[in-house]
Formats: sequence, C-alpha cells, structure tokens
Amino acid sequence: MALPPSLGETVPLNRNRKLLQTFLRVSFALVVALVISQIKLDYIESYLYDIRVRLKPFTNTSQKIELIFINPETVQALKGNPSAKDQTKLLKALFKEEPLAVVYDYDIAALNGTDEEKTAWAIEANKFKNLYASSKGLLMKGQEAPKLPGPLNLISLLPAPRTSDLLNFGKDGVTRRMMLTYQDNKVLQPTIAALVNPDVQNIKNIRGVFDFIETDQAYIDFQPAGTYPRMEFSQVMTSQFSTGRYKDKIILIGQDLGISDDEYISTPFKREVIAMTRLEMQANIIDTLIKNSAPVKAPGWLNWLLVALISILTVHVVLAMKPLRGLVILGGAFAGVFVVCFLAFWPLGYWVLMAQPLLAIFLCYYFFIPYRLIVENRRSWEYYQKNRLLRQVEELKGNFISMMSHDLKTPIARIQGMTDVILADQVALSSQQREAVDTIRHSSDDLLKFINAILNYGRIESEGVQLHLQSKDVNQLLTEAIKKNEFLGKLKRIQIISELEPLFPVSIDPDLIKQVFTNLVENAIKYSPEDTKIMVSSEEKDGKIVIQVADQGFGIPADELPNIFMKFFRSMNAKSSPIKGSGLGLYLAKYFIELHRGAIFVESSYGQGSTFTVELPLN
Ligand code: ADP
Repeated sequence: MALPPSLGETVPLNRNRKLLQTFLRVSFALVVALVISQIKLDYIESYLYDIRVRLKPFTNTSQKIELIFINPETVQALKGNPSAKDQTKLLKALFKEEPLAVVYDYDIAALNGTDEEKTAWAIEANKFKNLYASSKGLLMKGQEAPKLPGPLNLISLLPAPRTSDLLNFGKDGVTRRMMLTYQDNKVLQPTIAALVNPDVQNIKNIRGVFDFIETDQAYIDFQPAGTYPRMEFSQVMTSQFSTGRYKDKIILIGQDLGISDDEYISTPFKREVIAMTRLEMQANIIDTLIKNSAPVKAPGWLNWLLVALISILTVHVVLAMKPLRGLVILGGAFAGVFVVCFLAFWPLGYWVLMAQPLLAIFLCYYFFIPYRLIVENRRSWEYYQKNRLLRQVEELKGNFISMMSHDLKTPIARIQGMTDVILADQVALSSQQREAVDTIRHSSDDLLKFINAILNYGRIESEGVQLHLQSKDVNQLLTEAIKKNEFLGKLKRIQIISELEPLFPVSIDPDLIKQVFTNLVENAIKYSPEDTKIMVSSEEKDGKIVIQVADQGFGIPADELPNIFMKFFRSMNAKSSPIKGSGLGLYLAKYFIELHRGAIFVESSYGQGSTFTVELPLN
C-alpha cells in the first residue's frame, strides 16, 4: 500500500489548490461584473438618483434669486393678464430697487396693450442693465438671435430651455438636467448666473458639465419647491414689498396659473406633472450655476470597480462563509453600498451608480448559492459514507478486541494456575528457577490486568454505564483506594500522605468513583521515582468537593497534556519505559467523573511532578 504523503508535500499542494480556487472565484466575479456593467439599468438608477436628491439635507441657496408670479390672484386683482401698462408699472417699481437682473420667463409677445403702451414698457425695460426675456426655441449654429415683435424688439431675447428625461435615462419625463449651450450658442441661465459668479461664463469651468447630443449639459442641484422667495405680480406692481428687498437680486418673472403644462415640471422630488413651476426650475438652474454645485457623474471605471469589488465579495461570501454570517455580511454590503453612494452624493456631490452594484449582489448570490449547495451536498454525502465505514471498522475492531481478550483470558488463567501449583509445591526449586516462575506469575498478572481493562472499556463503549447512586463519604473511598495501592507504594518506598477534611456524604456511584481514585493513586505511584512523596487531599470548596492527588514524579510534557484524557493515549516517556499501562485509565476516569457532572483536570511540570484534581458537585 502506498504511504500517505508527508506533511512537507501536502502544504504546497494545498496552497496551489487554494490559489487556483481564489483565481477561479475572482475570474467568475469579474466576468459577472463585466456582464452586469453592460446591462442598462437606467430606470432603477433614476429612482436611486432621485432618492439621493430627496434624502440630501437642505443646503443654503445663494440668496440672490427672487421670484415674481403671475398667478390667479394677480389675474383677479388686475381683471385679466398683466398688460403692457401693468408691466411698465412693475418695472418702475423695481427700477428704484436696482436689481442685478430681470428675466421674463414666459411668452411676453402675446400681452395686451397699444403700440404706445408697449413702446413705453420697452423704453422702461431698456433702462435696466440686464433685462432678458426667454425664448422657447433654440439657436442653431450661425443662426441670428430672434427678436420680439414691434416695439418690444428692444428687449433681448435668449433661449432658456427646459430638459426632461423623456427618451433617455429614466424615461419618466422628470427634469434632472440643464442645458448650458446648444450647438455652441449660449443660453440664458449661464449668462444670468455669470453676473454673480463670473467663473461660469466659461462653460468648461462649470462642475459636472458633459456632452449630450451637440449640447453641453449638467445635472441640476435641486432644492424642493417653495425654496426660493416669491411675490405676486400685482403686489410688486403696487410696491407692496419692503424697500431693498430686490437690491442686487436676480428677479425671475413667470406664470403659475395652472392653465398649461408648460408652466410646470416634474422633479426628482415629485414625479407629478405639476411638481414645480417652470420659474422655480429656472431658479434652481441659475442657483446651481452660481454655487457651481452640479452633481458630477463618477467616471465609468469607478462604477465598474465598485461592481467588481462587490461581485468578488459576494462570490467569496457565498462560497466560503457560513450561511448566517454570509447573509449578515451581504446585508452589510447592501447597506454599505447605499451609505457610500449617498455619502459620495452628499456632501461630495458625486453620483456613483448604485443599481449595478446592488444587482451584482443579487446576481452573484443567486448564481452561486446553487453551486454551493451542490458542493455541500456532495461533501456531506462523502462524510456520511466515510462515517459509515468508520463506524463499521470501529465495530469490527471492538468485536475483535473483546473476542481476542476473552479468548486470551483462559490460557492466562491456566498459566497462573500452573505457576501457583509450581510455587506451592515443596519440590525445591533452584533460586534461578523460582525467580523465573515468579516473573511468569507477575507478567501474567500484568497481562490479565491489561485484558481486563480492555474488556471493561469495550463493555462500557457498547453498553454505556448505569449509575448506581448511593450516599457515600468520598474520604472513605479515597482511603480504600490508597490502601489498595499501599503495597505498590512500599515497593518503591513512596510515602502517601493524606489530608482529608471531614465531608458530608454525597450521592455518587461508589464503584466508579473508587475506580477513578484508585487509578489516580496508582498512576502517581507508577509514574514517580523511588523515595518520593504523594499527597492525597480532599476539601469542600465553592459548593464542590475537591480531591487532589499530587506526586513528585516524572511529570507530563506540556505538548502532551491536552491529550492525556484521550483513550489509549500514553505519553512518549511512558511508552518507552517498562511501566505497563493501557492508556484507558484517565479516559475512563474523565468519563465517570463527567457522568457525575464533575470535572477532572491536571497540572504538571515536566520533571517535577503532576497534580490531578477531581471536582464533584455537592448535590
Ligand atoms: P496508563 O494505563 O498508561 O497509566 P492512563 O490513562 O491512566 O493510562 O494514563 C495515561 C497516560 O498519562 C499515562 O500513560 C502516562 O503517560 C500519563 N500519566 C498519567 N498519570 C500520570 C502521572 N501521575 N504522572 C505522569 N504521567 C502520568
């Protein structure tokens, strides 16, 4: 039969297998990550993006923006939409305030008034340094800017488009982005924002700017509806505001009449069609640009790296960890992705894709769990088979040993009988012959003891032990055990000192406990040199009876101490010495003591002696 490989050969083999296993796992995880990064998850990602926008704590605005609304109350007060005359009045009221800019964000071409009234309004408008009206259409490359009709053509017109994710990303009509240029032509919002923050005049300086079908765009750093201060047109027109309110402010004028979709947008905060007025969207865009705080989309490689790391972690957890622990770690990873992505979004303003890492956890989990189940199933089947075989072998071994032991007992009894006959016979034997017969007698005694120990062990293993409890004085059993070994001790001139504290009787199986004590005292004598002492003591301590057998013997090496109570274990020294033993005494002692809910342990210093301690519960 081939010899098993030595330890030195198995280590590199195992290491290579482990390396290969790790390599395969990482490769699998990377392939899954690669596949996942190809899957478009815009719909889920848009939800996760919106959640982050909603959870983000309120950040201060630039405090530079004021809104003036033409709302139903204004229409009621003016008995119709504001006319050219009303507009002139409004501008007159605002001019005294010296605002930084005034922007009309609705269709002013269609307003009522005679040509003179419109001219008066246009002249008033021209007094402002920065007064613009927004146009709906976009300017194409090289195209000339459109003009307002008639006398209004004095008012500068600039496109201030609104974007919504209708055909792209979430495809939910939500406004998340702003347009900064179209075919290299500037639009209104950066022009206005540059009045406060000149940096954004150069589109390249705008945070988070990206190319999107011939436009420069960025994401809006949204604040919820109602964030920016607002007043009604009719009230401002009649100067019902505190003086200085509009000084150096950007004033946006628009409609909140509830008559057209065009007046409203859906936002990440709310997906309803009228979640926010268009004017507030403009305020959000201009404010984002003033603060230059647009969220930046993390680069593709960073997203991929996150997906790859999460995949590797999940595959490792699923294949190598205990199920409950794995689930806790995966739950932690799931929450961790949320926290990391949220912290990146706020306060850092980075938008790390979240849908793909989360999907990676699910996919890797559901993909590799069946694989693990198959492997574990196979393993437990192998264990089962091995176990069955081991049990059969163990049974065979037990049967064989007890059969052998039993069959050996008869010839030994015969040998003992014959030696007794020879020794009892008066026929004079030479001293040499007598010594030989004595040796035969002693050896057969040892052999019988050994066989009895094995038979005893075999019986206990197969039938178990029935405890016959009696109320008994432990000291009495100790004294009997010492007495039984007295002769053995005398042979080696070993003095056995006993210090037995008077004890109350306890409920024990006297035969088993006596066997334990006898074994401990016998061992102490067996494994001690001549002319030494053995101390046997008993006392009551902490609700227990504590018995100690201490010797000044050979002791037990520290590396062998943990094995001392194992069946058939004998220390190297004992095995190489002429001292006989089966290695079953301490195994059975531990077994018997534990049946009594007690404990047995040993302290030993090699070369100096050992102390065995038995603890028995009082009840
Ligand atoms: P054995 O029949 O060999 O004495 P035990 O189970 O009683 O079997 O003891 C197991 C082993 O523990 C012994 O072989 C011996 O190596 C060690 N041992 C037990 N008692 C002592 C002791 N008092 N001093 C040193 N070694 C001991």
